[in-house]
Amino acid sequence: MNTFISNLMNKMTIDEKIGQLNLVTPGGAVTGSVVSKDVDGKIRNGQVGGLFGIWGADKVRQAQEIAVNNSRLHIPLIFGLDVIHGHKTVFPIPLGLSASWDTALIRRSASIAATEATADGLCWAFSPMVDIARDPRWGRIAEGAGEDPFLGSQIAKAMVRGYQGNSFTDHTLMACVKHFALYGASEAGRDYNTVDMSRIKMYEYYLPPYKAAVDAGVGSVMSSFNEIDGVPATGNKWLLTDLLRKQWGFKGVVVSDYTSVSEMINHGVGDLQTVSALALNAGLDMDMVSEGFLTTLKKSLQEGKVTEEKINTACKRILEAKYKLGLFDDPYKYCDSTRAAKEILTQENRTAARKIATHTFVLLKNDSLANGATALPLKKTGTIALIGPLADNKRNMMGTWTVAGDFNQSVTMMDGIKNVAGDSVKILYAKGANISDDSLTIKRANALGTEIEVDKRSPQEMINEAVDVANKADVIVAVLGEAADMTGEASSMSNINLQESQENLLKALVKTNKPTVLVLFNGRPMTLTWENEHVNAMLDVWFPGIEAGNAIADALFGNYNPGGKLSVTFPQSVGQIPIYYNHKRTGRPYNGEDFAKFKSNYLDISNEPLYPFGYGLSYTTFSYSDIQLNKTNLKGKDRLIATITVTNTGKVTGEETVQLYITDPVASVTRSAEDLKGFQKITLQPGEIQAVSFNITPDDLKFYNSDLKYDWESGDFIIRIGSNSRDVKSATVKWMK
Ligand code: BGC
Repeated sequence: MNTFISNLMNKMTIDEKIGQLNLVTPGGAVTGSVVSKDVDGKIRNGQVGGLFGIWGADKVRQAQEIAVNNSRLHIPLIFGLDVIHGHKTVFPIPLGLSASWDTALIRRSASIAATEATADGLCWAFSPMVDIARDPRWGRIAEGAGEDPFLGSQIAKAMVRGYQGNSFTDHTLMACVKHFALYGASEAGRDYNTVDMSRIKMYEYYLPPYKAAVDAGVGSVMSSFNEIDGVPATGNKWLLTDLLRKQWGFKGVVVSDYTSVSEMINHGVGDLQTVSALALNAGLDMDMVSEGFLTTLKKSLQEGKVTEEKINTACKRILEAKYKLGLFDDPYKYCDSTRAAKEILTQENRTAARKIATHTFVLLKNDSLANGATALPLKKTGTIALIGPLADNKRNMMGTWTVAGDFNQSVTMMDGIKNVAGDSVKILYAKGANISDDSLTIKRANALGTEIEVDKRSPQEMINEAVDVANKADVIVAVLGEAADMTGEASSMSNINLQESQENLLKALVKTNKPTVLVLFNGRPMTLTWENEHVNAMLDVWFPGIEAGNAIADALFGNYNPGGKLSVTFPQSVGQIPIYYNHKRTGRPYNGEDFAKFKSNYLDISNEPLYPFGYGLSYTTFSYSDIQLNKTNLKGKDRLIATITVTNTGKVTGEETVQLYITDPVASVTRSAEDLKGFQKITLQPGEIQAVSFNITPDDLKFYNSDLKYDWESGDFIIRIGSNSRDVKSATVKWMK
């Protein structure tokens, strides 16, 4: 590879080298206000290194032909796309996927996405997004794996391996971990907003998932829009060179986010020439859409603001990526137009999507009814009132970031219930409410298409119809929540309740005194205190993807017993944000008691979340024994084996995610109340008992100290094992160096 690339680079002019650093979009999937112009002409002139936003083997071939046949050095282009939770077979949104806590399934989803995307001409996916997020107002919380660095890291690895496989074949593609870095910590949950945090916090909580992706061999990294320590990430040398390359040893391509080079002008760090030089000098290789590199780097070179060596290095990294993908051997490697029909949206892929979706559902509540049975699962008999703006809705099943997905292919809940329960249940349907009646929210959420369809009837008329329907049924299934793009990029919300239109509907339904099951579509944790008090059961289905209706019906009727667990804390109130399980303890800790003056608590609300991290119920119940330890006094590299016995105490088979947390009560720097350090998924038949053991080593005790050294300190440690971050058994050990 080295000889090939240096021979090629010897033939390249400086303009051609700079051209390789330019990533353009002809406008297939636009996420900014700028679209590249004269893309064909630029490809011919050797001014483009890669293209994103187009897909389809023939379309990609056409563009590739221009580069290969008409540019002077015939250098192939690289083709990227936001393949985020599936390509055309759309899987649940990433936040949903993370609730499965099932890295094998997540890896499978990425590998199917890679197969489909490569059958459509693509060799580069702008995924995984691994930004830790503790603020549900931020719409992009939907795109990541939630709030925890340990879980986030496992998922980051699984995604990279799913996309890239063991090597780049024509069925795998280059992954791109994003958004580097800390993008999820934007102030006030407002997208693209300022980020400011201590180094310890970065290293301990925010950086591990990016690092995990790098360690898993991710081929590319995307810099984020936000600033870090006062310097935008895209021009931040500490981030892109000192940390990423020198400390972590990353050797692949660093690409900017969409116009994040030119946006540094708005950040106030210079004009286009200055910020482009800043980015290159910081370690950025490829400029997405800004064309700052293309239009200013030569001038900067002449003026001594950048060196030729820096341009060469960036160019080399891009050529290396193309080489590793096999594009120099065969520029049309991914342009086999016979593949799409055979490999995209196959029944097998759809079946996988359905199965994966069922594993992401989180049962938030399931009360016993007057007859002693729990509200869920539903019986496959009687009459169901299927009510709500998302109950018979194709448009909103897939969620945000389904660039190539076609919502017409998705299964509604109405169809899913018919498919699963057949004729044995009678379904009475009413829309009941619009997703929102707020004209501003409707307009803004509909920016990418009409996701919120507004019924001509008055809200009261719709509610009346729904109540009539409900009164005729045995059970109400209310299907409520957000429209697909009420989360995702540029979709922050200050109010994370159900929209008022839907709250009013739900209140009217609850008044009928019929058993009420709420099926909730959401890309973020929502504030659901009223709902939690008043409905009988709640199933959080996120946005389940193309097989939504079938998967939800599988869970509602008990063909599949939901076992998902929250990867993010649900607040009681937006005023508690940021609220996350691995918080610090403070000098005046709140210990779960009632309000205490001069303690860290609120006058008007408790500190508790509505649902804690790791939480999720099942149609069965599990009991946990006390923890057994192989030792309680450990030394140096000893290994601690912590074992707990889990029993399925209910009547049906169920999956449980057994979670291990560790608390370090005394250290040289303040530590979290607890940190997730392991989890195991088990499936138990009714009455079955299983011992689950965790091997704990000093590595699990490590943290970043004031010198940013990753090490552990002697002392006591509390081992906690349980079904979520709140409900745990605990045992203490002493571990000395
Ligand atoms: C988003 C990225 C995305 C890129 C390309 C940006 O606006 O922040 O996540 O990969 O656009 O579409």
